[in-house]
Amino acid sequence: MLEFRVATDPGSPDKPNEDAFAILPTLAVVADGATSPPHLGDGCFHGPAWYAQTLVGFVAAAHLSRPAAEPTDLLAEAIERTTQAHSGTCDISHPGSPSATVAMLTLSPDGIARWLVLGDCTLVADAGPDLLVVSDDRLSNTSHAERAAVKEPGVASDSAEYARRIDALVLAQRAHRNRPGGFWVAATDPQAGSESLTGSMAADAVGRRAALFTDGASRIVDLYGIHSWPTALKVLDSAGPCDLLRQLRTAETRDQVADSFPRVKMRDDATALLCNWSDDA
Ligand SMILES: [Zn+2]
Repeated sequence: MLEFRVATDPGSPDKPNEDAFAILPTLAVVADGATSPPHLGDGCFHGPAWYAQTLVGFVAAAHLSRPAAEPTDLLAEAIERTTQAHSGTCDISHPGSPSATVAMLTLSPDGIARWLVLGDCTLVADAGPDLLVVSDDRLSNTSHAERAAVKEPGVASDSAEYARRIDALVLAQRAHRNRPGGFWVAATDPQAGSESLTGSMAADAVGRRAALFTDGASRIVDLYGIHSWPTALKVLDSAGPCDLLRQLRTAETRDQVADSFPRVKMRDDATALLCNWSDDA
């Protein structure tokens, strides 16, 4: 028997949740739409929430029409169809055209799970004796100076100087986006599908689990250290994804000034999805 559990929470009550997910009996996918300062423009009137939701919808549609297709091909097709969906109304050649990071799991009848990670979403899975943890850190390997400037202590997050530093970071990252040697995200270039990190594992063992996180949710481990990956997976499986996200928000509320954990966004949209192969008995 296969169980899926998912929770998603917007980082701000005033803004749309730019995380999205889709689940079918043989597919789970999460996407995290990228935000950029509105005055820098993105050539699109739909926005990142639309992009992420449309993308996961097309991933699901591609999987339905081609159940045996590899996750890289599903993502490439979804990028192409999402781009087509706004090519008539928006400037899809804009360097800041809406984009998303992605994590995906597909399940085949032979008991093999195939996974894909593109950008800073994270896959965590019982893949045998060890826990498999996959995230794509190519973005964090670009724009070092601009990121360090944003995280520098002493610059208030509501100051003009901070806003200027954020702009500089976004523009520096755009120059590396979907370029060889830079980082890859789902945007307008289907090649991002084949630039994803991928793998497969046996997935039919009872008690085996896999989880997908957007970076707003994986922070509970990789930024705050409140959980290790094994304990985060345990909370997902026992108390559930809502409980894990509540723990995350509690920690962030206690750390309003971001002194303890310097970060660009105080609270980000957060999504955690668990796929659990449970006992039929
Ligand atoms: Zn658009």
